[in-house]
Amino acid sequence: MSEESFDAIIVGAGLAGSVAAYVLAKEGADVLVIERGNYAGSKNMTGGRLYSHSLERIIPGFAKEAAIERKVTKEKVTFLTDDTGVTLDYHNGREQTAIEESYTLLRGDFDQWLMGKAEEVGAQFISGIRVDEILVQDGKVIGVKADGDELTAKSVILAEGVNPVLGEQLGMVKRVKSDAMAVGAKELIELPEQVIRDRFNLNDDEGCAWLFAGSPANGLMGGGFIYTNKSSVSLGIVCGLHDIGSSNKTVPQMLEDFKNHAMIKPLIEGGKLIEYSGHVVPEAGIHMVPKLVDDGVLITGDAAGFCLNIGYTVRGMDLAIASGEAAAKAVLAARDKNDFSAQGLSSYQTLLEDSFIMKDLNLYKELPKFMENPRIFNQYPKMVADIMQSMFTVDGSPSQPIRKTLMKHCKEVGYMNLIKDGFKGVTSI
Ligand SMILES: Cc1cc2nc3c(=O)[nH]c(=O)nc-3n(C[C@H](O)[C@H](O)[C@H](O)COP(=O)(O)OP(=O)(O)OC[C@H]3O[C@@H](n4cnc5c(N)ncnc54)[C@H](O)[C@@H]3O)c2cc1C
Repeated sequence: MSEESFDAIIVGAGLAGSVAAYVLAKEGADVLVIERGNYAGSKNMTGGRLYSHSLERIIPGFAKEAAIERKVTKEKVTFLTDDTGVTLDYHNGREQTAIEESYTLLRGDFDQWLMGKAEEVGAQFISGIRVDEILVQDGKVIGVKADGDELTAKSVILAEGVNPVLGEQLGMVKRVKSDAMAVGAKELIELPEQVIRDRFNLNDDEGCAWLFAGSPANGLMGGGFIYTNKSSVSLGIVCGLHDIGSSNKTVPQMLEDFKNHAMIKPLIEGGKLIEYSGHVVPEAGIHMVPKLVDDGVLITGDAAGFCLNIGYTVRGMDLAIASGEAAAKAVLAARDKNDFSAQGLSSYQTLLEDSFIMKDLNLYKELPKFMENPRIFNQYPKMVADIMQSMFTVDGSPSQPIRKTLMKHCKEVGYMNLIKDGFKGVTSI
């Protein structure tokens, strides 16, 4: 067993882990981050958009130096069927403050930059080594076992991401069920910068965040996404894990069909595939938040289920950053009192309760249930497409009043279903 005892050992150099390391090291704490990937970000994936508020509060002006891609000014949401697409397109040309901005990014680059910031202020970082076990003595976490070595610490922060094996080992996290998870597959497609601007109607470094409901996930819970980077686009699909068994398409086939959709194909024509990745996303919101603190240990980020899929936007990165910061602050408070027991670390829970993390997870607590409704992903995209087709098709037959057209297509879904789903949808957001 190593003689040295760190104030904190952090498992995982994702956003939660690197931010926790940065906040701790900046205050002079002795911190070690252990990452199983060859470098920070090597195993990490995201669709692509970071809401900057939580990091901006920790590293003001970070976007000027960080490895970000484009500032999002264009939001698009499309209902897609196999042969139609109906899009809501919002261009934001208004001034935004730094905390209101959001950016597209690539995790390989961004996570290395963030871990580098933590190292600059004194955090120690080792990569290419997996933490295999958490060391427990008399019911208290006292360190980790990695690559055969035992390393001791006054506290351990688990920032191990969506598959919290170590959290489970400690009995803090319950085995995650498939209906609490979605699977994502993503391609990074290289295109010249000017081509991206032209095809997505962007000025200079502006970026586009585009979400799709309907056919990308084969009508199942989930959807598609496109985020524009500087000289590539991140294109992918997400599909509820428990739905995949009932799908007549595999996830790679869904992705292939999405890319070949008549609305998408011209956007990526001539592009070169430079990266392919797959990852799981926590989807059950507040319902999957585990025990967050115990003697000598705290759980942050995806490992704690801190992720929000609101349909028109996906957020996990800003929650990972804010929860990493809260965990670090709780360790600093414990260090002041020299009490790393669950009680000594309990300010973590309070900081989370007082922050947007628990407030937002509580606000959207009914949403995961609402999203299980299959009509949202198959019947409604089709209904919207049918209404559009009726409105824009002129074939010389006498026109119908729009009211009648609307009623005809709404009837196909069922008025009661529309009222029920509309009410549930509104009350769950
Ligand atoms: C397809 C998809 C699209 C998404 N889109 C968005 C989006 O647009 N915007 C957004 O905000 N969020 C998005 N998310 C969610 C977001 O990516 C996550 O919420 C976020 O990455 C969580 O960060 P984290 O630091 O908790 O975990 P991670 O980034 O997963 O980091 C965990 C780290 O721990 C390491 N690790 C794990 N186990 C060990 C071990 N035993 N020993 C050592 N190291 C270990 C891993 O290698 C990894 O580096 C998306 C997710 C997916 C999958």
